[in-house]
Amino acid sequence: KSGFISIIGRPNVGKSTFLNRVIGQKIAIMSDKPQTTRNKVQGVYTDDRAQMIFIDTPGIHKPKHKLGDFMMKVATNTLREVDLILFMVNVTEGFGKGEEFILEQLEGVQTPVFLVLNKIDQVHPDQLLPIIQDYQSRYDFAELIPISALEGNNVETLLEVLYKYL
Ligand code: GDP
Ligand code: MG
Repeated sequence: KSGFISIIGRPNVGKSTFLNRVIGQKIAIMSDKPQTTRNKVQGVYTDDRAQMIFIDTPGIHKPKHKLGDFMMKVATNTLREVDLILFMVNVTEGFGKGEEFILEQLEGVQTPVFLVLNKIDQVHPDQLLPIIQDYQSRYDFAELIPISALEGNNVETLLEVLYKYL
């Protein structure tokens, strides 16, 4: 089994942190500053079961200038070329305009979308359910998976779910 997996989401939700944890090398630039990832960064994860080629994208957001416009195109173009899409959000922040804008970009895209609720290390488990239910009502996600990219919680589970869809 093998496939291309795009990681999308607002700036700072933890896309690069996730990719670095999975690949185990500092191949994507991590930073507190939004838009550090200026272009596509690919990471290949291989084990005895499968090969997964991850594509870290610049954060998708409403472009305010020419460079932003270019970065948006890079991000949205990958959505049609990949096998699976990981839509990553920060669980400590609710559904906002940024998420709404990204879901609009996903309209008409046939690729399965997995909602990855990142930074669960920062919320109490009791707070998770209402957040998950809110997201569930907004899009027909293939699966919803809470993780902590920073601490590694549930990352292995997420990989197992992805295998099933490859
Ligand atoms: P990106 O813009 O989506 O690529 O986000 P980054 O991977 O650069 O992460 C942005 C910030 O969030 C960094 O300071 C990370 O250390 C932090 N971060 C990423 N994942 C987690 C997580 O699971 N928990 C916590 N607490 N912080 C995280
Ligand atoms: Mg990044």
